[in-house]
Amino acid sequence: MILDDDHQAFREAVAAMAADHVAPIADELDKTDRFPKQLIDVFAGMGLVQLAVPEEYGGPGADLLSHCIAREEVAAAGSMALAQLAGQNSIVVRALMDSGSDELKQRFLPLLAEGTRITCIAITEPEAGSDPALMRTRARRDGSSWVINGRKSFITWGSLAEYAVVFARTNDTPRSRGISAFLVETATPGWVVDRHNDKMGQHGVPNNEILLEDLRVPAENMIGEEGQGFRAAMEALHQNRPTVAGIAVGGARSAFDYARAYARERSQGGRPILEYQGLRWKFADMATQIEAARNLVWSCARAYDTGAPASERVKLSSMAKLFAGEMVQYVTSTALQILGGHGYMKDHPVERFMRDGRLIGIYEGTSEIQRNIVAREVLR
Ligand SMILES: Cc1cc2nc3c(=O)[nH]c(=O)nc-3n(C[C@H](O)[C@H](O)[C@H](O)COP(=O)(O)OP(=O)(O)OC[C@H]3O[C@@H](n4cnc5c(N)ncnc54)[C@H](O)[C@@H]3O)c2cc1C
Repeated sequence: MILDDDHQAFREAVAAMAADHVAPIADELDKTDRFPKQLIDVFAGMGLVQLAVPEEYGGPGADLLSHCIAREEVAAAGSMALAQLAGQNSIVVRALMDSGSDELKQRFLPLLAEGTRITCIAITEPEAGSDPALMRTRARRDGSSWVINGRKSFITWGSLAEYAVVFARTNDTPRSRGISAFLVETATPGWVVDRHNDKMGQHGVPNNEILLEDLRVPAENMIGEEGQGFRAAMEALHQNRPTVAGIAVGGARSAFDYARAYARERSQGGRPILEYQGLRWKFADMATQIEAARNLVWSCARAYDTGAPASERVKLSSMAKLFAGEMVQYVTSTALQILGGHGYMKDHPVERFMRDGRLIGIYEGTSEIQRNIVAREVLR
């Protein structure tokens, strides 16, 4: 798919920013696992954190294709972790736009449009991962508030977030119909960051266990009707998946580029290793996989941006996430192979790309869950 001039110009602008601000620190973040707070202002200054906030609320109102492009370009600069900062608040914004009251939108969207406030989404629990309907976190009504108690696991940005969308069971209706969503201000007493998780990769972006202890939320902060929270979450997650797949495309590109440069320089048997057909075919296969993944991501984004039927959008969203999640594992592992023993060493970033890329097939719905969704859509 060829980009139009506006998307192409946006792509080049993000790539230039990422080359200046992301590439130089990507390795250091892997080693220190610190979040570079100054980058929030850089990203927000370009409208990147707040991409999804509509213009009527002061945001750039970017389409989903732009979001996918931004994430690919930041990841291609060498950091799949920081790629998550592009469109950082999109899931929260989409949940509000899809199901939030006018009052909630008026209160929070202009703040999110500033791009400097980090958000998170808290669904997963120790006993509820792929099947979030099993969640045990409970919200009970108390006068004009809801009081939430429970534990949330693996929450990306949890320790930095100013706002969170928290999912909790509000009644005993079985499965997902008893679940509601709340917009939580994390400065509220009862939001407790219990642990910083020590991840295999994607260092630089925090991941936390969050305890919810008698967390009091005003009743008007419920997103949508009581018992509709699950639907709001699923819709927002479906729409976010092609952007996660975009991170995989960018990460795979960085591994490909590094391996190609290495293979040009490295000689064995009296010739640059790039001349061996066994390696040339690897590059051909990697490039084909990357291109195929990107086309799936972009056609999914187009399906959302042009209002394609819901079943088509959901199918493409899961296909993009599934394919890109497996593609990035294949490409980063193959790139490592091309570097031989050097690929296994931390002197080169390829082992990091492999660790970072491994996450794509796990979070926001595992590859197995994406296969379940694709099968449901194509076997109707
Ligand atoms: C780094 C990271 C960041 C994350 N960020 C967030 C976040 O910000 N917010 C949040 O709420 N959550 C977050 N998560 C949680 C993530 O979404 C879950 O880890 C994921 O959905 C899987 O749940 P689980 O880990 O409990 O695995 P489980 O659900 O226990 O799955 C274990 C295995 O069983 C398979 N499986 C389960 N059910 C089925 C089925 N029906 N059919 C076939 N196979 C199945 C799975 O695919 C997997 O292979 C994050 C996770 C990680 C690792």
